[in-house]
Amino acid sequence: VKPLKAVKTLPHHKLMIPGPVEVDDSVLAEMGAPVAVHYGPEWTAFYKDTVELMRQVFRTEGDVFLLVSSGTGGIEAGISSLLAPGERALVADNGFFGERLAIIARLRGLEVVTVTAPWGEPIAPEAVRTILEKDAGIAGLIVVHHETSTGVLNPLPALGSLARQFNVPFIVDAVSSLGGEELAMDDWGIDLCVTASQKCLEAPPGLAPVAVSRRAWEVMDRKGDFRAGFYLNLRVWRQYVEEWGNWHPFPVTMATSNVRALRAALDRLLAEGLAQRIERYRDTAQFLRAGLRELGFSLFVDGQAASSTITAVRRLPGMDVADLVTFLREKRGIRIAGGLGALKSEIFRVGHMGRAASRDYAALLLEGLAAYLREKHP
Ligand SMILES: *Cc1c(COP(=O)(O)O)cnc(C)c1O
Repeated sequence: VKPLKAVKTLPHHKLMIPGPVEVDDSVLAEMGAPVAVHYGPEWTAFYKDTVELMRQVFRTEGDVFLLVSSGTGGIEAGISSLLAPGERALVADNGFFGERLAIIARLRGLEVVTVTAPWGEPIAPEAVRTILEKDAGIAGLIVVHHETSTGVLNPLPALGSLARQFNVPFIVDAVSSLGGEELAMDDWGIDLCVTASQKCLEAPPGLAPVAVSRRAWEVMDRKGDFRAGFYLNLRVWRQYVEEWGNWHPFPVTMATSNVRALRAALDRLLAEGLAQRIERYRDTAQFLRAGLRELGFSLFVDGQAASSTITAVRRLPGMDVADLVTFLREKRGIRIAGGLGALKSEIFRVGHMGRAASRDYAALLLEGLAAYLREKHP
């Protein structure tokens, strides 16, 4: 047997990527605590409190489940629980993650109609209205809140009010916005909202919080069961809350260490204050963007539609994005990301979530970028 060339340790870098993010030591400590049992009264009370905090962050009176999966698992659960194969969904596609939503919907057997905008521009509510007016067969509207591939925010309040007006269930991917951008699930008419632990919630990867409105349950109960299966079927998750509520309110072994870490992260978030957290991200984004402009960079998205959880930056003429990413990693211990899809070599993306949402981190990155420019683009 040939011995493995084992990788036993991983380097520690400053994470300024669009997720996962660096988390606080108090959150990390929970991951290192002894593994807790996932059933019984103590655990169940702890879990329910964590769910209650998540409801506050979603700003919903609806139900919240913590799926043991990445964000995509939560999205797939939402789409397949709410929409039946053969039904028609309207999917907003203005970037990599919108495209991904359309792929998931198609693979789940839906007929997909897309409403598009160029990458870097928000979806126009009027374009959505036009389609909803013409096509009474649309059974769901599926939208990314923050399109992480470009840094653009889609106008959820306007889209939500159209969904209500046309009585179409509204599914939102808020994986890279919940906790870091304004989002009010109930006030904005969102029926199903999905996020993930490893971005603005500032916890390690591993959990997908999924929030479900009363209207969404009515739709699901009217349709009955189709092909949502077991694990990704939100009605199954609800059944376990109803029938096993005091012992084991979920259908599988809960990732107890991840829930403990998420709980610590939510305690921190609510102690900081949702509004203050959002303001900290915004402040970091503005500070970083001012420095980037001074260095001669231009932003891929500017103005109202720019999110404050990541910044996408156009490369300078002749600049090799991959080389820049490597330089910052090797010489400064900072991780940033390149673009996705057609933008792969055209932009770089900086996350300001978690520890990266501070002027200190932003200043370190600006210093690293200045050094790179001196060396490679004098
Ligand atoms: C990160 C991200 C995802 C994917 O989340 P996973 O946890 O990797 O499954 C989906 N949508 C958006 C908008 C994201 O930023």
